[in-house]
Amino acid sequence: MCALLSGSSCAPSTETPKSAGTLADSFNTERAWKDLEHLVAMGPRQAGTAGAEKARVFMEAQLTAAGLKPVREAFQQQTPAGPLDFANVYADLAPRDKAATAPWILFCAHYDTKRLPGTFVGANDGGSGTAVLLELARALAAAGPREFGYRFLFLDGEESVNLEWVDPDNRYGSRHHAAKLKNSGQAAKFRACVLLDMVGDKNLNIEQEGFSDPRLHAVFAEAARELKLDQYVSAKRGAEIIDDHLIFMAAGIRSVDLIDFDYGPGNSYWHTLNDKLEHCSAQSLGIVGRVVLAAVPSLEARLALR
Ligand SMILES: [Zn+2]
Repeated sequence: MCALLSGSSCAPSTETPKSAGTLADSFNTERAWKDLEHLVAMGPRQAGTAGAEKARVFMEAQLTAAGLKPVREAFQQQTPAGPLDFANVYADLAPRDKAATAPWILFCAHYDTKRLPGTFVGANDGGSGTAVLLELARALAAAGPREFGYRFLFLDGEESVNLEWVDPDNRYGSRHHAAKLKNSGQAAKFRACVLLDMVGDKNLNIEQEGFSDPRLHAVFAEAARELKLDQYVSAKRGAEIIDDHLIFMAAGIRSVDLIDFDYGPGNSYWHTLNDKLEHCSAQSLGIVGRVVLAAVPSLEARLALR
């Protein structure tokens, strides 16, 4: 059957769309790993610090090199440590049909690191999602515009300023971006939000995060099965995790959090100085990147039907 998108017709496209396999193959695992090494080498990237600024400059340079136009979304917010300067960075890959009614998908990850004593570099928590998202942006930009538009959003201030996570002291960047989308009426064009967080664990095991839209997660689990990567990304029901995706969900955008919240024995590497490069792997970044890219065509097909 033909799913009619408003403003588009059912005429067959003259272009041959890239098959799921080809798209997945375009994910450059080595380059994603290099990005992660680079981010980690910068040291802590806490919101409102020079480290976060270094990360932004790096991400903007990578997005520009991919032919995209990064936008910096700076804002100041009151925090338990006083007013802090935050900035999200995003880049858009416009849809083929530039009509205002064209559907969009939001891919996001947080790049900031938790304020912890010592040199906490957040290789997995903050680094891995950023590295995969940068490479996804390159791969999709190189493949060219699609029926859906894509926003690659790098979020600041996911981590709480205080040690304890107590609302609203967390998810500063997603709250800011979601409020802007809502107030400008743009939230409606985003048919889905896909959040990547803690996707670099050497021992990768992504299950269906409990709050995530099950139908959205199923698309990624299915893509993983087709790539024979379902031992790493499965449809098994996992824990409920409070993360940036809930902010976009509250703004009316269906969302999924691709996250492996079991990092080290008993999650003991999470928010500790053990969250370092040696506990992550290029292979894990590659698995997640390939699965996400392979899922893109079916994601678009399902979301076109609403
Ligand atoms: Zn964290």
